[in-house]
Amino acid sequence: MSKIHLKDYKKKNLINYSSIIFSKKGCEIIPELGLFRFGKVDLKILEYLRENFKKVFKNLFEYIRVIEEPLEIPRNAYDSKRNQYLSPLFLHEIRIYAEKNEYDKVLGITSLDLFVYELNFVFGQAEFGSQAKAAIISLYRLYPNFYGHPFDENLFLLRTLKEGIHEIGHTLGLEHCRNYCIMVFSNSISDTDRKPAAFCEKCWSKIESKF
Ligand SMILES: [Zn+2]
Ligand SMILES: [Zn+2]
Repeated sequence: MSKIHLKDYKKKNLINYSSIIFSKKGCEIIPELGLFRFGKVDLKILEYLRENFKKVFKNLFEYIRVIEEPLEIPRNAYDSKRNQYLSPLFLHEIRIYAEKNEYDKVLGITSLDLFVYELNFVFGQAEFGSQAKAAIISLYRLYPNFYGHPFDENLFLLRTLKEGIHEIGHTLGLEHCRNYCIMVFSNSISDTDRKPAAFCEKCWSKIESKF
C-alpha cells in the first residue's frame, strides 16, 4: 500500500486533490487534524492546542493544522430564550468543512455558550463512531472568571486542552472512562480540573489498535 502525501499534491498542484480520493482507492490517507475557530477566538489558543496535541497524541496525526480563517456562527444556532447556542449545528458545519477539505478530524473552538436540548450546557460535543470527524469545544465556561475567580491563563489553557483532547478522543472511538483519564465525563468544571490531560493505558491502547 503506497502512502500518498496529500498535502504535497495540494502544495504542488500536481493534480486535482479530490480526484485522488476517488480514483486511487487503496491508498493510505495520512490522518490529519484541523483546528479552527468560530467567530472571535484568539489564534494563540489554537496554536497552544496544536503544540500540546502533538505531545498527547504522539504520532497519531501526521499533520495538525491551525486554520486561521474563522468560520461563521451557524445560522439559527442562537436560542434567545436560553441565551445559548445549539451545539449540534456547529458540529454539522464542522462535518461539512472536514469533508470538503479532506480532514480526517476537525476540532472547532468557540467562545460562545453551547447547549444540547437534554442538558443545561455542554463543554463540548463530538461525533462518535467509525465515520466520526467533527468535534467542538466551548471556551465560555472554561474561564476562571465565569466562576467568579481571577483570570489565570495557565488554568484556562489547561482546561481548553483537556476539553479538546476529550472530544477528539470521542471521534477516535473512545467512550467515557472511569479510570484516572481524560475520558472521564465532566459534569462541572471541578471534574475537568480533577482529570489528567492524558489517556489512561486502556484508552490509549484502544486508539492504537485502530491505527
Ligand atoms: Zn464526553
Ligand atoms: Zn481511560
